[in-house]
Amino acid sequence: MSNEKLKLEMQDANALAAGYHSWWRYVEIGSIFAFFMLIALIVRRSWQVSEGRGFLIASAFMSGYVMADFISGFVHWMADTWGSTKLKIIGPGLIRPFREHHVDPKAMTRHDVIETNGNNCLISLWVGAICVFMPLESDGALSPVRIFLMVSLGSMIFWVMMTNQFHKWSHLEGNELPGLVRFLQRVHLILPPQHHDVHHTAPFDKYYCITTGWLNWPLTKLGFFKGLERLVTMMTGLVPRADDIGLDAALKVAPPPTDAQPEPKHAQS
Ligand SMILES: [Zn+2]
Ligand SMILES: [Zn+2]
Repeated sequence: MSNEKLKLEMQDANALAAGYHSWWRYVEIGSIFAFFMLIALIVRRSWQVSEGRGFLIASAFMSGYVMADFISGFVHWMADTWGSTKLKIIGPGLIRPFREHHVDPKAMTRHDVIETNGNNCLISLWVGAICVFMPLESDGALSPVRIFLMVSLGSMIFWVMMTNQFHKWSHLEGNELPGLVRFLQRVHLILPPQHHDVHHTAPFDKYYCITTGWLNWPLTKLGFFKGLERLVTMMTGLVPRADDIGLDAALKVAPPPTDAQPEPKHAQS
């Protein structure tokens, strides 16, 4: 299916942008504040148990970096592919920004620091609380497994929080970015713009990972998200991306149905 032949029925960008309510902004501000309190406590806890465990802490930190890329891809895929902006709470709060982003990719570059980072802080709070309160001892001694878990989850939520910022930078022009950011993009330590362009090509059905993008190639080769879409459609009859690009286009690019699949129906019907 060539992209030119797809008739996309995207939603109106202004209507999507207007869905950013003031009450949600208070939720975001509170979330950012709580998130950084938790991160400070996790860093302090990690520091207290770090002596003689440099390698353990460093490898846990790196695994959190990779996990964040996976989470960014999974959440992005969920929000792009299923549900509607009309759903209660998660519609305006979590789904709307993703829909708006496909219609107007530059809109996020005009978002301030609160709108950029509030959502990711909010969804990370419960994991941060686990890291702060989980016991690190087992059988009366510090457990390397528990320390690894705490540091990797703490690192993961930190990179998840940074994800929207990395994503936003990938949509800014080179001359709008500090040299350090351009360098990190060039060496692919954060999401490079050319790499992310693949996702912004209709029908927006691949390269969902937006922290570093390291997992995009392997997940696409494995058919990971296509396989999940086939499974969800088989169980629910929903058509992936119907609310994002319109039902007709979505039906054309949906994974081929299996025999056991029921008639597809629109996400909003
Ligand atoms: Zn997307
Ligand atoms: Zn983007």
